[in-house]
Amino acid sequence: MSEKVANIDEKIGSVKFYVDEAFSHLKIKDEKSCFACREKPCLNFCPANVYRLGEGERILIVYQACLECGSCRVGCPFKNILWDYPRGGFGVNYKFG
Ligand code: SF4
Ligand code: SF4
Repeated sequence: MSEKVANIDEKIGSVKFYVDEAFSHLKIKDEKSCFACREKPCLNFCPANVYRLGEGERILIVYQACLECGSCRVGCPFKNILWDYPRGGFGVNYKFG
């Protein structure tokens, strides 16, 4: 692992989350579009590795780890991700800004 990656992981590890266990603020609009999406860039552009490949090539969303960077609003070529901020009182809490 490069030093740069190690530093990013370290920084992400210092972030605190108030997890909303009852509601995901991220959703896939249409699973069929994901099956048609060959490159599946969401598996790479998310800094928190929120999007993962599940059984039968389904996209799983580990929304609890979302850093609220907003990249998935623009990174999905099919505009297939419904993105919103977590409900009030939940989400990421950055220590330094
Ligand atoms: Fe689905 Fe968008 Fe991910 Fe492609 S990039 S697999 S369409 S969520
Ligand atoms: Fe990942 Fe950023 Fe999208 Fe959250 S907002 S799921 S951290 S790309």
